Amino acid sequence: MNISQTPEQTRALIAPLRGQRIALVPTMGCLHAGHISLIRKAKSLADVVIVSIYVNPLQFGENEDFNQYPRTFEKDADICKNEGVDIIFHPENLYPDNGAKVTLKVSDLSNILCGISRPSHFDGVVTVVNMLFNIIQPNIAIFGEKDWQQLAIIRRMVSDLHMPIEIIGSEIIRETDGLAMSSRNRYLSPSERQQSLALSQVMHLMKNNSQQGEKTSETIKYGIENLNNYNISLDYLEIRNELTLKPEHSITPESRIFIAVKVGKTRLIDNISLKMESEITS
Ligand code: AMP
Repeated sequence: MNISQTPEQTRALIAPLRGQRIALVPTMGCLHAGHISLIRKAKSLADVVIVSIYVNPLQFGENEDFNQYPRTFEKDADICKNEGVDIIFHPENLYPDNGAKVTLKVSDLSNILCGISRPSHFDGVVTVVNMLFNIIQPNIAIFGEKDWQQLAIIRRMVSDLHMPIEIIGSEIIRETDGLAMSSRNRYLSPSERQQSLALSQVMHLMKNNSQQGEKTSETIKYGIENLNNYNISLDYLEIRNELTLKPEHSITPESRIFIAVKVGKTRLIDNISLKMESEITS
């Protein structure tokens, strides 16, 4: 496994591999089983797997956790090596010293859900993913469904900007008690860890209810009432179409619940499909 720290080194490492199918798995490090599932999917779909590890300053708001974000490179490198990753791209900084003067901007899809409380977040994400795509020029790139809105926006970026890259979504990996894995889960105190179960538990209650034929507004009201039992602060709880991200007024096979909360100071997000189990094909 090679580790590169600059775009130039990365390009030089990739040059002899062109012609093979190259997969990119972009991450911010502090790798857990969710990231590993992305790496395994990449291995199953490509000849060469490149993992990028970069805590991208542009996607963090001023009062967010950029400085605090866990950086565990040595452990991450061991995981990547064990998983048979070919190259880790671990740049120190991808921006000019005087700041980027040219960035990408997302409209519409970023004015909803996480984009409301994190107004410049998705602009930062698409800008850095675009840089990674330019440096690595992968054939495919794997993103987790945990960050569903991010995945939808990346798909749209690739389509709107005519990028010849296939975007693959990968299912959410959860702890055994249902909490979606996240590098930020390590911020949680034991009592907050307990409270964080609210997300998956409430979404499952809502899913059961919606399958009894309830309207989405009723299902959301029911979910919000239930969340009140957990003493956490709700950012949003919505039911939207998973492809267009438009609100759904009645449940369809494309309906998905999206939730974001703050448990103490930690922001957590999650989502689940409202498809009946019998409608889920993959
Ligand atoms: P991050 O390092 O948090 O920026 O995440 C890097 C990639 O891993 C993103 O595509 C995430 O959606 C994905 N990811 C993070 N957590 C999970 C999870 N629990 N299950 C599946 N994918 C995940």
